[in-house]
Amino acid sequence: MEKVIAIEHLSKSFGTHEVLKDIDFTVNKGEVVCIIGSSGSGKSTLLRCVNLLEKPSGGQIIYNGENILDNKHDIHAYRTKLGMVFQQFNLFNNHNVLNNCVVGQVKVLKRSKEEAEKTALKYLKVVGMEQYVNAKPSQLSGGQKQRVAIARALSMEPDVMLFDEPTSALDPEMVGEVLKVMKELAETGLTMLIVTHEMEFAKEVSDRVVFMDKGVIAEEGPPEQIFNNPTQERTREFLKRTL
Ligand code: ADP
Ligand code: MG
Repeated sequence: MEKVIAIEHLSKSFGTHEVLKDIDFTVNKGEVVCIIGSSGSGKSTLLRCVNLLEKPSGGQIIYNGENILDNKHDIHAYRTKLGMVFQQFNLFNNHNVLNNCVVGQVKVLKRSKEEAEKTALKYLKVVGMEQYVNAKPSQLSGGQKQRVAIARALSMEPDVMLFDEPTSALDPEMVGEVLKVMKELAETGLTMLIVTHEMEFAKEVSDRVVFMDKGVIAEEGPPEQIFNNPTQERTREFLKRTL
């Protein structure tokens, strides 16, 4: 299997609070990995370290065989290879839907406006939002906003998509439309790393599930193992509380 990202001995502290402790894990090409765990266990911090929104305190991030934390590496180029979808959408409210998906391509990837619009439309179709190109985010429902945020990230044509609880801020009736889009993306072979509380979704789409507890990976394995036959007591405890 081809490794896209390998995390080795990653640690992260805020002051004296060690939030991530000696984390090792790998994301392979085409794999869908879901990260589950209690609130405060370090899931968001892990994703934010992977895309360098946070600077790791220690360890290595190996991307396509290179340690991107060594000084000579171009962190900027690395970050363009990762698409990120946040709980709170983070759309540009002053831009319409199309422009939300265009600006990053033009500014960061130096694509022409024409090419960027063509790419944006392609991915807005993928998420079923192509009829809303002229709408402003304020005119959209939460589910629609999140689908635009996904299209915006996809428009950068990243190697890996990172999702941090993409449905946690949504009204319950809108969760399904976003999970459906993500499931369709997973089926296209996109490499995805997803923090989620949606256990049924994780069970259905993951190739591998990572259970985090208090800053460590307490257990990881195929969804059948984690959900039906966990080896760790704390995995069982967590699932008992959530399911
Ligand atoms: P999760 O996403 O699993 O809920 P987080 O990664 O958000 O967990 O947080 C893990 C721990 O790190 C929590 O105790 C949180 O308070 C702490 N933490 C997260 N970000 C910061 C920060 N910027 N400064 C200080 N502490 C933080
Ligand atoms: Mg979080």
